[in-house]
Parts: sequence; structure tokens; C-alpha cells
Amino acid sequence: MSGNYRVLITGANRGLGLEFARQYAQNGWQVLACCRAPQLADPLQALAKAHSNIQVLALDVADFAQIDALAQQLKNTEIDLLINNAGVYPDSSSTHINTDDWLDAFTVNSISPYKITTALTPHVAKSRLKKIASLTSKMGSIDDNTSGGSYIYRSSKAAANMVMKSLSIDLQPLGISVVTLHPGWVQTDMGGSNALIDTKTSVTGMRRVIDHLSLATTGRFIAYDGQPIPW
Ligand code: NDP
Repeated sequence: MSGNYRVLITGANRGLGLEFARQYAQNGWQVLACCRAPQLADPLQALAKAHSNIQVLALDVADFAQIDALAQQLKNTEIDLLINNAGVYPDSSSTHINTDDWLDAFTVNSISPYKITTALTPHVAKSRLKKIASLTSKMGSIDDNTSGGSYIYRSSKAAANMVMKSLSIDLQPLGISVVTLHPGWVQTDMGGSNALIDTKTSVTGMRRVIDHLSLATTGRFIAYDGQPIPW
């Protein structure tokens, strides 16, 4: 979908977030590209130089006061699409896990999508498209877990799935539709170089899923290729 819409993306300085910023900017959208360290975000700053419709904003998604301040700063701004993209994958393959890492991952992967979504709900509710997309992972699917391990990532993304499902129900009366996305196994710092697809393929697919998102399809867990994922 092209046109004069506005998207806010978290973790837009690299990986999938950066590719979302690139593709939506190329489609003529206004892009609010959030990252925690704009002064270090060279690829995003270069992209913003090439596209005047990209605005770079500072946001550490683990800093809930900063989320509230950003919502206040943007209080007169309509956000057609909010993309909760920022995420972490701490090492937790063994049963000996650093529990501080676990709490940090819950903050970033599970609580912050809730916090950002609720802080920006008024901005989305007054927009034309009224859409929210959150990147979780098939690794957060209990049904799909046949290999075990990854305790921190799996549990924090499973929690995020439940958060987005509840939000899809609670935001429906405001006309807001919500989709939980699995981007595929993607070549990024997180996905690694052996991953199956590149960011362009993943984001092109996720944008198609978001285009088809409506109140009739709200509350689903969908992969980048349109396939439903079991919870
Ligand atoms: P990357 O590791 O490449 O990028 C992660 C992004 O999240 C970075 O921009 C990073 O910013 C940002 N981030 C992390 N913590 C914070 C924070 N506290 N505040 C603000 N930003 C933060 O990951 P991907 O691009 O691959 O992943 C994007 C999303 O897709 C994640 O939610 C991930 O879980 C999900 N996903 C990815 C898969 C893959 O195969 N790549 C598979 C399934 C899901 P910074 O540079 O400052 O660290």
C-alpha cells in the first residue's frame, strides 16, 4: 500500500527494522524510525539523508519513561501503523541461565510491546489505517516447539504473543487491528548468515500481510509468507 500514511518502527537502525524503514519510505510513507542511539545509527542516518520522509527518533524500548515522553512529543501526530520490531535473543541454550538476562529479555520482548502499544493507542486510533504489527517469532509458538532450548527467547516471545492477542481484543472497539508476525528465519545480526531469507524478502512479505490486515482478520499469528502459525 503506498500513499501518505505514517508508520512508527522500533529498532529501525539495523536488520528488519531498517528494511521496514527503507521499504515504507520508498513507498512514500512518512517514517518515524526509532532507535536507541541515533548518533551511532549510521545506516539509518544515511537512509534518512536520502529520504526526506524519514525522521529518526531516539527510543530505548526498555525505558518506559522515554516511551511516555515520545507519546507526549507525538501527541498531535496520527500513526497509521505501529511496528513493534525491536527484540533481543540472549544466549540460553543450556539449563544454566543468567536470570538477569531473562528479566531484561522480558522487558524488551514482552513488556515493551505492550507499553509502546498502549502509549501510542490514541495516535493509532485517530489515524486512517489503525494498524499494529508486532514481530514475535515461531520460536514463541508452544505448538511448534519440537527442539527445546532457547528458554529466554521462547518464553519472552510466547508472552508477547499472548499480550498481542489480548490487545487485539481490547483495541477492536477502537477500530484498531493487530497482527502478530513471524518474519521467517532472516539474515540479520540475530538470524545469522545461515538464515534462509534476506531482509528484503521478509519485509516485502510482512508488508503484504499488513496490507491485508483488517478488523475481520485481527488477532492472528502470521508468517511473512501469509501462512498462519499455531500459537
Ligand atoms: P537484529 O538483532 O538484527 O536487530 C534487533 C533490533 O532491535 C536492533 O535495531 C536493536 O537495536 C533493537 N533493540 C534491541 N533492544 C532494544 C532496546 N532496548 N531499545 C531499542 N531497540 C532495541 O534483529 P532482527 O532485525 O533480526 O529482528 C527484528 C525482530 O524480528 C525481533 O523482534 C526478532 O525477535 C524478530 N525475529 C527475527 C528473526 C530472524 O531470523 N532474524 C526470526 C524471528 C523473529 P540496537 O542496535 O541498539 O541493539
